[in-house]
Amino acid sequence: MTTTEQQTRAAQPADAPRVYGHHIGGRELQPAEDLIHRRAPGTGEVVASWSAGTAADTEMAIAAARAAFDAGTWSGLPGVERGRILLRVAELMRADADRLARIEADESGKPLVLAAGDVAGSIDLFEYAAAVTMTSTGEAHTNLGEDFTAWVVREPAGVVAMIIPWNFPLLLLAQKLPFALGAGCTAVVKPSEFTSGTALELMRILREAGVPDGVVNVVTGTGPATGQILAESQDVDLLSFTGSTATGQAITAASAGSIKRLSLELGGKAASIVFADADLDDALDGVLFGVFFNQGECCVSGARLLVQESIADDFVAKLVSATQRIVVGAPLTPGSELGAMISPEHLQTVLGHIQRAEEQGARVVAGGHRLTTGELAAGDFVAPTIIDGVAPDHAAFREEIFGPVLTVTRFRDLPEAVDLANATPYGLAGSVWTKDIDKALDTARQVRVGRMWINTTIDGAPSLPAGGMKQSGYGREMGRAGFDEFTEIKTVQVRTGPRSRVFGGWTA
Ligand code: NAD
Repeated sequence: MTTTEQQTRAAQPADAPRVYGHHIGGRELQPAEDLIHRRAPGTGEVVASWSAGTAADTEMAIAAARAAFDAGTWSGLPGVERGRILLRVAELMRADADRLARIEADESGKPLVLAAGDVAGSIDLFEYAAAVTMTSTGEAHTNLGEDFTAWVVREPAGVVAMIIPWNFPLLLLAQKLPFALGAGCTAVVKPSEFTSGTALELMRILREAGVPDGVVNVVTGTGPATGQILAESQDVDLLSFTGSTATGQAITAASAGSIKRLSLELGGKAASIVFADADLDDALDGVLFGVFFNQGECCVSGARLLVQESIADDFVAKLVSATQRIVVGAPLTPGSELGAMISPEHLQTVLGHIQRAEEQGARVVAGGHRLTTGELAAGDFVAPTIIDGVAPDHAAFREEIFGPVLTVTRFRDLPEAVDLANATPYGLAGSVWTKDIDKALDTARQVRVGRMWINTTIDGAPSLPAGGMKQSGYGREMGRAGFDEFTEIKTVQVRTGPRSRVFGGWTA
């Protein structure tokens, strides 16, 4: 394909079906004969196709990133220069924000307004990472004795593989890529096979912004065909993964032979803990937003409501009536608040979880079924669902459902709320709702998660690190910690005076 053809294609409106090849070594390859066709979850129409990558494609991408890293050109640039390029990327993303948001909505099924928010958040992350890149320094240790000095410097981690899920395709890539680039790394990106469009579009932007050839490569395809090769490769120094805990376990096993560093952002089962003394209007709004944001396809989704007994019946009744007012619609339908599930298979998984909860004795008090009226018939929509009477030994309490499903469990007091919040294998996030600051801080301290919200939920800033405990993984993204994740510490020690001799016989 010629450059002119590529430019023509990039200028097409997002609603023309797009066909992409891998991006390796600074160019877009011809789309493979074997293509993955993406059907929009909101409408069922094919919106884009990309190459079904193979082991050979993945190895080619790794080799390009390795060569670019080993050449030292990118990591050798002054931080201020890499930072300036990241700022230019942000500027170009802003100019293209509407198109990126449209692609994201088409491929993921989320309402356009949410996709636009994801693009804006991604731009913020590039800008923040640029600032960290420009201001990052090492440490000099000068009080080690008069003839002894040392530097603790941060070097780039090397070739980084980034494996991305489908729920926030651009945003979750932006939590990794600009930080890794800022640290001087090179990258192979493996987006989700469901939502590869924005990662591929970003390549055009990176090139235009001045990121050198081979520094970022994108290979598309399924996990077993491409991601697995990244996990096994001896030429990948660090694998930064976001996805399910089950895939995190497979990646950990596959990477064992290479002893590469891993950063794992895995599943979650966050609790929203509502005490009787909370501002109940705020709490109601927060619980609804926490669970139904992004159709519940969100790792930090507040999927479990833990509510104090004395207010529970009234609070749940209000939640049920508010849930019935949520507007479910196709991504491009104005006013749509809750979109489609990512795939027909995932729709069935979510419905299966709801059915199992009923079989185990819980009660569906809102939703609980697929929506098929009007425009919803063409997509994979689940009615926002509330399941009451969920006990800690029910599957719905412990397992990630990853859909618009809230479980309700009652608690008596703070110790019981904390025990319930901690009673899953996950440790990603949680929220607590109370006007009593001592109670709020005490709860936040005792819940074992990487991120705790007090009287708020699912908000953040590029400077605030996020990550998990327990089976939600390890490593942190965003903030200084998220930048450091893509570095290796090297200690350089210098003796300036004569060395004291220990073994006299060695002296000439
Ligand atoms: P997934 O684990 O199925 O897939 C994630 C990525 O891994 C995809 O790109 C996929 O192709 C790839 N993959 C699959 N099998 C692989 C293998 N054997 N080797 C290498 N790569 C492989 O997850 P998903 O369904 O795309 O996303 C939903 C999951 O992601 C949920 O569990 C959610 O909680 C989690 N998630 C976590 C965070 C976080 O920050 N902790 C954020 C978003 C999503």
